[in-house]
Amino acid sequence: MSSIPTTTTSSAGFFRIPPPPHRMPAAGVRMMAGALRSSASSVGTILTNLQHESATPLPVLRHVADAMTEDMRAGLAVEGGSDLKMILSYVDALPSGNEKGLFYALDLGGTNFRVLRVQLGGKEERVIATESEQVSIPKELMSGTSEQLFDFIANGLATFAEVEGGNFRLPHGRQREIGFTFSFPVMQTSIDSGILMKWTKGFSVSGTAGRDVVACLNEAMERQALDMRVSALVNDTVGALAGARYWDDDVMVAVILGTGTNACYVERTDAIPRLHGTMSASGMTIINTEWGAFSNGIPLTVFDKDMDAASINPGEQIFEKTISGMYLGEIARRVLLKMAEEGDLFGRRFPEKLTTPFSLRTPDLCAMQQDDSDDLQAVGSILYNATQKVESNLSSRKVALEVCDAIVKRGGRLAGAGIVGILQKMDQDSKGSIYGKRTVVAMDGGLYEHYPQYRGYMQRAVEELLGSEISRNIVIEHSKDGSGIGAALLAATNSKYEH
Ligand code: ADP
Ligand code: MG
Repeated sequence: MSSIPTTTTSSAGFFRIPPPPHRMPAAGVRMMAGALRSSASSVGTILTNLQHESATPLPVLRHVADAMTEDMRAGLAVEGGSDLKMILSYVDALPSGNEKGLFYALDLGGTNFRVLRVQLGGKEERVIATESEQVSIPKELMSGTSEQLFDFIANGLATFAEVEGGNFRLPHGRQREIGFTFSFPVMQTSIDSGILMKWTKGFSVSGTAGRDVVACLNEAMERQALDMRVSALVNDTVGALAGARYWDDDVMVAVILGTGTNACYVERTDAIPRLHGTMSASGMTIINTEWGAFSNGIPLTVFDKDMDAASINPGEQIFEKTISGMYLGEIARRVLLKMAEEGDLFGRRFPEKLTTPFSLRTPDLCAMQQDDSDDLQAVGSILYNATQKVESNLSSRKVALEVCDAIVKRGGRLAGAGIVGILQKMDQDSKGSIYGKRTVVAMDGGLYEHYPQYRGYMQRAVEELLGSEISRNIVIEHSKDGSGIGAALLAATNSKYEH
């Protein structure tokens, strides 16, 4: 695990100058002692430095793509050989379309967990019906005990399973089967067991790391007297790949860009030295790259380094911290705060609320970037909320947009370079198998789905790297909720009953 250098100054709090006591204003808004601060030009300097340090010109992208390819090879060669864990998914066969029956899926992502049931009707009828529900995970459970978290989930699942009717039919005497999507790094030990390596994305639940997460869920389901069996433990990327492949045979890669990020792809078993010649019946398997841990050659700014140092996993998940939804807003917050502290981004008022970590969120950046009004009304109101009622003028709104753009541009472009890294690895191993024909990369996750600028930067980076001819063969496609259906499909593929 490589680590990035940490900086000696923290952007939060370092340059803040306390106001003189006689000018103390009310309710969380401080005045800045203007004479003591640097001039407005420091806002410009901070912006220019940010743009410079986060720049991703083509040579940087190429380096990142090549390093991704190399790290993939190193991770496949030996266990622990690279930042990328290249985890075996034990999914050696993708859904055929013949799957039939009622199956459940549970998706534990980052901010929410989702439960889903699907009635599958085989080749002709395909997906007859689906129903799903989403429950947000209370913050306190993200740092509670393992039992508390899994009891909460099993309870939600039991409530959902109680109301099963209409198009959904479980044959008499059959136990319900569920595909469990768990989007954290798991060392898979079989299709229905796996050890949690570490929590990511802000989770720090005690007592789960080092344990089989399927056992954790089974025990919680027993405590809830819920008669259900986990028949497949599925990483969310693997679920997305399976779900997308159900409809399209050309899907070879799946990428999630949500709270966190990860990617998986279809690999030949003979290209995995770590398997020492053990082949799957199909000759292929899905590899979960855990690419969030990638770190090679990523341009980092002082804001990234400070955020990393203050995170619960310093030095880890550097790719994730530069490209995924949990972090883009936080990086922007740190930049804007520094601009308020060292410059005069918000005039004489100090935006106290901006000192709170994660108070500016990626959806806020996205909403700001959709504002096409002349006076940037929406940007103004988002900043107003984020700063607890500090007004901004047009030029500071423009600066805020430039900050968002720099961070989102780097995120999208690096994600694109990562995708090319995977495609290029596959194409190098069997020439033309990827670049020479239609190949689909299935995308899912809230960041990808909702952020058009991010998507655009990502797509253009892929085109820049591949050139126009090859890019025509590479289809990057949103596969909405593919991972939920995918997990249910894999539960079907691995059902203990005849199929
Ligand atoms: P998870 O990754 O937790 O499984 P999602 O795939 O739904 O869940 O992604 C949620 C994440 O997507 C949020 O944490 C946020 O970072 C990002 N996101 C959600 N809505 C938006 C939006 N409108 N604009 C930009 N990013 C968004
Ligand atoms: Mg998810």
